[in-house]
Amino acid sequence: EAKRRGKNQVVAFKINFLDIVSRRMQLEQALREALNEQELAIWFQPIIDAQKGCVIGLEALSRWRLSSEFIPPNEFISIAEASGMITKLGRQVFDKVGAALQELRIDYPQLQCNVNLSLRQFRDSDLTKDIIECIEKYHLPACALHLELTESMIAESETEILPTMQSLVGHGFKFHLDDFGTGYSSLERLKNLPFDTLKIDRSFVVPLRQDDHVMVKNIINIGRELGMNLIAEGVETEVEVHKLLQLGCHQIQGYYFARPMPLDELKIWLATTQPQQLAAHKSSQLSQ
Ligand code: C2E
Ligand code: MG
Ligand code: MG
Ligand code: MG
Repeated sequence: EAKRRGKNQVVAFKINFLDIVSRRMQLEQALREALNEQELAIWFQPIIDAQKGCVIGLEALSRWRLSSEFIPPNEFISIAEASGMITKLGRQVFDKVGAALQELRIDYPQLQCNVNLSLRQFRDSDLTKDIIECIEKYHLPACALHLELTESMIAESETEILPTMQSLVGHGFKFHLDDFGTGYSSLERLKNLPFDTLKIDRSFVVPLRQDDHVMVKNIINIGRELGMNLIAEGVETEVEVHKLLQLGCHQIQGYYFARPMPLDELKIWLATTQPQQLAAHKSSQLSQ
């Protein structure tokens, strides 16, 4: 009986495994077609200075709708990376972001946008050339594009990435360290890398709801020590906003202020959102 159950479990595991593999293969094929047809979209999430009550920038996030289903970025980005399609995807992201920024900067001349990068874009393509082509095509200054690298990418491949990073910094592009706190980089290392902003991972923001602010406080102090700008990611509640402000982190990205949205929706959001809706006073009632 035990033996039969064991065998059934093996069979069940195999079927499950095959499901996963075949889903991934189907998605890979569908993604290849979607890239050929330029079907991926970019959505934009505003980044807010909650002290000043203003929008300081955007993050561009890829979205892929396959018939009626949105495939999560974590799933299709990993497929794109493993298959090498990320280079093509990345070029399409730059092109869409460049076009959107050119248009948005007519009304919002200071607006800038963050773009996420993967390791393979450094390996497989001339990233500096691709990015410069983008800003020239859309008549943008380098400061309009900020580049996000995750802390785990740096931990894995710092020496490989650094020369391209330095060349891009030389052209005036700024780098943000994404998902900070999740990737084990030493402070010594961070000091020597040309990042100007740390994005505090959402996993450190959520505990603020339970009044647990030890970790986020330490991270904010590290950022200050390194002379870096700080953005808190994944901020969903008023309590989190309020505590972050108290701890000295004013730049906030999260559903509390705005979700990622398509360009058309973003334009309406930008035109209709008043500074007081973005300012700290919303949460100041809590501080009494
Ligand atoms: P990320 O760069 O850390 O992006 C932030 C993620 O947090 C986004 O997930 C965003 O939708 C989500 N988020 C923002 N505010 C909140 C909030 O208040 N609560 C919660 N729960 N989540 C929030 P998304 O769009 O699913 O993207 C996941 C990851 O996929 C990104 O994480 C990034 O690493 C990657 N990614 C997305 N687009 C691209 C791309 O064009 N290129 C590359 N290389 N990676 C991308
Ligand atoms: Mg990011
Ligand atoms: Mg992040
Ligand atoms: Mg992330």
